[in-house]
Amino acid sequence: MSKLLSVKLSDGYLMPALGLGTSASNKVAKSTIKEAVQRAIDVGYRHIDSAFLYQNEEEIGSAIRKKIADGTVKRDDIFYTSKLWSTFCRPELVQVGLERSLKSLQLSYVDLYLIHFPVPLKPGEEIFPKDSQGKLIFDAVNLCSTWEAMEKCKDAGLAKSIGVSNFNRRQLEMILNMPGLKHRPVCNQVECHPYLNQSKLLEFCKARDIVMVAYAALGSNTDKEWVNKNNPVLLEDPVLNNIAQKHRRTPAQVALRYQLQRGLLVLAKSFNEKRMQENFQVFDFQLTPEDMQTLDGLNRNIRYFEDSEFSPHPNYPFSDEE
Ligand code: NAP
Repeated sequence: MSKLLSVKLSDGYLMPALGLGTSASNKVAKSTIKEAVQRAIDVGYRHIDSAFLYQNEEEIGSAIRKKIADGTVKRDDIFYTSKLWSTFCRPELVQVGLERSLKSLQLSYVDLYLIHFPVPLKPGEEIFPKDSQGKLIFDAVNLCSTWEAMEKCKDAGLAKSIGVSNFNRRQLEMILNMPGLKHRPVCNQVECHPYLNQSKLLEFCKARDIVMVAYAALGSNTDKEWVNKNNPVLLEDPVLNNIAQKHRRTPAQVALRYQLQRGLLVLAKSFNEKRMQENFQVFDFQLTPEDMQTLDGLNRNIRYFEDSEFSPHPNYPFSDEE
């Protein structure tokens, strides 16, 4: 049986190295999400990743509270991540955004709160505000002022830890070099898998004691609106499959183990109990240095997440290595 390992963040909190992803296409019923999170907690997952954007925090909060009520876990056992949506990046809206999530969750704090994208959007009720030509309306917000408001959320106890997502080196440096920086970002959550291994960004993050969290580590799901349907399917990659066969493991387990051995934390989304179990069994085998090198060789700058609507923004593509 695999035992879930945790990593110490720069602010002293522990974060489980494997997390359950919860972003699904809008074809998935909300009731499925609630059941999946309950099942995941039964399987042993203690780290759950979501966001205001996913519009599923009510169901996730309800699942977590149910597993607390039935005695399976205590609130302290769960590591829950949420993310500040781009329409709340103005400093006066950051706590409002977090409180919206907490209200849906019916929890008093999140363990980790991330700036979801380095691209502020026009505030308002529309998640993707658009002009008359259907173009996204960006908002000119200095992300350093957003970060100061994130620091206040940590100080107020609404988020135990704070970090960022989809940031590149330049954007991370901007935060790290802020005059009067009070709390450093503990993590940067980015797309990362053997086809986009982000080795330069990983090196930078490690040197600055920022943990990197990999999303789309299994190659994501082409049912999702933003996912490029023309890319090769990661889990069908012959090299990945050969390594999996050699270890009598599945390609998904090797893709997850690859990230853990590189020192990343990793998310895996599955709402299927068998695959949730499978993805959890990644702490009881070891890839050899040769396997790791072979997997490094698959890197080819393929991004599953491509949203051309964001492309006019200077911070696009996200988490690029320049
Ligand atoms: P992913 O975890 O790479 O892949 C999920 C897909 O793989 C689902 O279709 C799932 O289907 C399937 N799958 C799961 N386990 C499998 C297995 N063992 N064998 C075969 N197929 C398997 O993709 P993701 O959901 O895009 O990313 C993971 C999480 O990262 C998200 O859910 C979200 O929490 C987070 N994320 C964050 C950002 C950001 O901007 N910060 C962006 C994207 C994602 P089943 O459910 O049917 O098993």
